[in-house]
Amino acid sequence: MNDSTRHPEGEPWQWSEETWRRIVGRARAGRSLKPKAWPEGARCAVAISFDADHETIPLRDGDESPMRISQGQYGNRQATPPPPARRQQAAIPPPFFNPAVAALLHPHAGRGGAGDGHEIGIHSWIHEVNTTLPREAERDLTFRAADTLAKIAGRNPVGMRTASWDFSVNTLDIVRELKLLYDSSLMADDEPYELMDAGVPTGIVELPPEWIRDDAAYFNFLRFSSLRPYTPPSAVEEIFTAEFDGAWEEGGLFLLTMHPHITGHRSRLPLLARLIRHMKARGKCWFATHAQVAQWCKDNA
Ligand SMILES: [Zn+2]
Repeated sequence: MNDSTRHPEGEPWQWSEETWRRIVGRARAGRSLKPKAWPEGARCAVAISFDADHETIPLRDGDESPMRISQGQYGNRQATPPPPARRQQAAIPPPFFNPAVAALLHPHAGRGGAGDGHEIGIHSWIHEVNTTLPREAERDLTFRAADTLAKIAGRNPVGMRTASWDFSVNTLDIVRELKLLYDSSLMADDEPYELMDAGVPTGIVELPPEWIRDDAAYFNFLRFSSLRPYTPPSAVEEIFTAEFDGAWEEGGLFLLTMHPHITGHRSRLPLLARLIRHMKARGKCWFATHAQVAQWCKDNA
């Protein structure tokens, strides 16, 4: 730890109890919002979403490589919205979380998605890394992102997923100021819960994601680094199916995060279709947007 990153209260082993309690008290999980029952007599809720990052990942990195930009463009050009045959297999309108810059690059997709019943959620300005930003910069970018999506989608977003789930020490204040219904970035539970701010309930619903239920964790690839996992789609399907089966057995929430530029490929998208077939075969699944799940939990927990 150098001088610029040194904690003002010294090394962690020197911290007072007040310091470490204050740190863990930020955006803390409060009461469970797992409802007593799901709508339509369902046994579990299924919330599948796509983070439509497209070109913003290389842009965020300041990488002007046409090759990396083209990988992002694939997400919009080939995989958003899914071609009709693929959409039929899925047969649900998943939410899209859009960085505002991606929405501005592809406004027809955002407008069309909103018109087709997809929820449009906040997902940063340019996929910035919140924990590296001053408070005012994060606030300004998030407000501009919300405003941009509202103009494109024709309605105000009610939920947010921080880019890379990089929820900073300032993010909760911004979520509260925006009066959002929910956030989907934090991972303290399998089931929805209420966010606490320094021990005080906020009324904000947290819909917990997890890297386990994120396609990027298994399929991401960088040419000039050692990031080349290339997990076979069949192994990812096995993990996602086990996560869903657990949620179904417990009567809980199955929340899955996908990316058009990652899962839209011919070898991967069929795993999502097979997964949805498996869910429908088990039955009694409530397929819903994140906003619908958050509102139901808030009203029925
Ligand atoms: Zn993203």
